[in-house]
Amino acid sequence: MRLSGTPGAPGIAVAAAWRYAPPTAGAAAVAGDISTRERLEAAADEAVAQLDALAAGLRAAGLDEEAGILEAQGLMATDPALLGEAMRTAELSGDPAAAIRAAGEAAAGILAAVDDPIVAARAADVRDVAERMARILSGTVVRPPDEPSVVLAEDVPASLLAELPRHLLAGLALEGGTATAHCAILARAMGIPAVVGVRGLLAAAEHARQVAIDGARGELVLDPDESETAAVEARRAEAAARDRAAAALRGCAGATADGRAVRLVANIGGPADVPRALAAGAEGVGLFRTEFLFLGRSRAPSEEEQLAAYRGVLEAFGPGRPVVIRLADIGGDKALPYLDLAPEQNPFLGVRAIRLAYSSRELLLTQLRAISRAGAAAGVTPHVMAPMIATLADVDLFDGLRAEAQASLEAHGLAASPALVWGIMVEVPAAVFLATELARRVGFFSIGTNDLTQYLLAADRTNPALAHLHDALQPAVLRAVAQVVAAADAAGIEVAVCGELAGDPAGALVLAGLGVDELSADAGSLDSVRLTLSRVTSAEIETLAGRALAATDAARVRALAGELLERDATPAR
Ligand code: PEP
Ligand code: MG
Repeated sequence: MRLSGTPGAPGIAVAAAWRYAPPTAGAAAVAGDISTRERLEAAADEAVAQLDALAAGLRAAGLDEEAGILEAQGLMATDPALLGEAMRTAELSGDPAAAIRAAGEAAAGILAAVDDPIVAARAADVRDVAERMARILSGTVVRPPDEPSVVLAEDVPASLLAELPRHLLAGLALEGGTATAHCAILARAMGIPAVVGVRGLLAAAEHARQVAIDGARGELVLDPDESETAAVEARRAEAAARDRAAAALRGCAGATADGRAVRLVANIGGPADVPRALAAGAEGVGLFRTEFLFLGRSRAPSEEEQLAAYRGVLEAFGPGRPVVIRLADIGGDKALPYLDLAPEQNPFLGVRAIRLAYSSRELLLTQLRAISRAGAAAGVTPHVMAPMIATLADVDLFDGLRAEAQASLEAHGLAASPALVWGIMVEVPAAVFLATELARRVGFFSIGTNDLTQYLLAADRTNPALAHLHDALQPAVLRAVAQVVAAADAAGIEVAVCGELAGDPAGALVLAGLGVDELSADAGSLDSVRLTLSRVTSAEIETLAGRALAATDAARVRALAGELLERDATPAR
């Protein structure tokens, strides 16, 4: 039986089925004479010790970011609010395991309701850590599978994934979950093929013995027959050959087969992402989403803190690999409680990004000062980019902020970068129509296809019910890109794309064909984009772009790009 869901982590495997269900409330472990409070505290300490040991294992394997997820869970285990809530319930019920589960569930419910995918993703972590403490309290252990298996579950705690012996984890298929949940992030980092959001999975797989999983396609086959197994094996051999070819190209600059350069750079959220980006052969950073430095804390990072973060990234990439630092894109789905912004009916259409300059000017000035000082300290010229530019007045505003930040550094005798390369994001439709005038004012454009698609199609990017409108290969979006490229070419400035489309091989072909100079994507996508480009000529992608512009729906554009991608697939060996 064939099932499909959302791609969670690429990779192909055929292995035994292993159903995982979270242990239900186990028998309360022997209480002895210690109080409920002491038992909960001891369980929290034990959970921290276990998580720290797991994190150390991940760090030793070079998975720093993933280790950070488990260390953050360790902090949650000792959170006084979580423990306090569990203690109150446990004192009444006498069942600390059930109490910590309930407290975890309540805390997760609050986080999940926050309109911010990053905060909401933490809900799974709180559940995970509460579940671990409940297991410790009730003496329940999860018995791992005894042969390499595809884990089938409603959801899997990220820490459990880190705990199961790696050689037994052939794949992961979840009925729930999303591609941005921590277990999917961990699966990607550990190289475990994963498919998430597979509706009806658990009912369909009740008696399944074998599973073939294709993470990149978001597909699985339960109890595959001979021909289905052979087809999956052939795809696996093809993917392995592709991975080898991509690895051989790492370190080369992005270019088509006939040598047209397309710079391949990384999107990062902070200094912790730098090692992965460098290891992936990024030729710089096309988008440093600095708002992540401001999220999940009770006050804005100081100028000194920001200076250290920006300087670290600039130094790591050095003068030959430009780093584009984006001013904090706060607002929309990334709210900051400490900014005290008025509640809005439509936050994506509200006081977001550069518009913060009206109410929180000092926040952006501090950031610009930190960036300029970081450039001076690192001895490189920082590239700074303003998000959500909609009018020429916004450019004036950005220009004024830059000048004021530089003047204030001079007034205080602080070393400032002598020059900043400054550019803007083109992600609001108004900027597309003003591209000619905007291009004469700024140093570069970077097209944010995520927001440009949301705003052109009037489809909230966080609403899964509108998934069919979120594909940035919509011809309307591509025609906007073509218009922006033409305006940039006329003014002699470069155009990058830093939305998700840049990391999608089909998108990369079309965008490069439209004349985009730089593609900025998650480090994990760079290998595959580099390889894809290396196998086509500039004439082929220009023809593809012309046909894509004439198409009338995204599916047709994908099919056209698919013809080139399939043609260049490495034959199975
Ligand atoms: C975009 O909108 O495409 C973009 C890259 O910015 P963000 O996803 O951070 O809004
Ligand atoms: Mg955006």
